[in-house]
Amino acid sequence: MPAKDLLPIPNLMAMRRVLAIAPHPDDNEVGAGATLAKLIGLGARVDWVVATDGAVGTLEAAQRESLVETRRREQEAAIAVLGGGGLNWLGFPDMGLRDRRAELTTAVFHAIRSAAPDVVLCPDPWMPYESHPDHRTLGMAVTEAVSMSHFPMVEPTAGGPVEPPAIAYYGTAWPNTRVDVTDTFDQKLRAMWTHASQFAEPAQQVLGYYLRVRAAEYGADAGVELAEAFKVLSVWHLHFYPDAWQS
Ligand SMILES: [Zn+2]
Repeated sequence: MPAKDLLPIPNLMAMRRVLAIAPHPDDNEVGAGATLAKLIGLGARVDWVVATDGAVGTLEAAQRESLVETRRREQEAAIAVLGGGGLNWLGFPDMGLRDRRAELTTAVFHAIRSAAPDVVLCPDPWMPYESHPDHRTLGMAVTEAVSMSHFPMVEPTAGGPVEPPAIAYYGTAWPNTRVDVTDTFDQKLRAMWTHASQFAEPAQQVLGYYLRVRAAEYGADAGVELAEAFKVLSVWHLHFYPDAWQS
């Protein structure tokens, strides 16, 4: 048996306490919306954490303050479309995570230790060519917090130790898990379109078409019509384990 097969990949669909941590309002929906809806349908408790206020997502600089309020309402509406769940805003400025990395890490530790989830979802910070610093920084902070949340002397001001959750990366180049979302894919798109400040026409048509074609490709890999893809790892994969990328 190859060494990489000795560490089992956690079963994402068996998770019942789920924490989805996004850099911006809309990322959880784009990356994992159909899977989150499916988990909720299976009885899971899903809570959202959004790290930044989304204030940079406009070409009109003068809109900044009203956009923050709009994006709050859009995020709440998206969660309602997917079946409901808690929402925790960490309050960092959009594009501001890189410069406040230490503070972000503490906030993420606190969010994970407060929720004590079975699994944490976030963007894959190792996706090649990912240009957005908030996505790279958030993904690394969540990875650190997942792998260290059970150590009481790491980030002791951010709550007591918890059982280490699994991590499920969306937006990943090396998926190891495909979730059949044939029944919830349209719900994902409806949730995405509540983020109307980000996805006006014709972007809705173009992005919706792309995501459907891509979901069909992931689905073909799994023998289903439509799928979302994740890289799911246990805490044991996250330290000193050179095969993690191909696990
Ligand atoms: Zn984003």
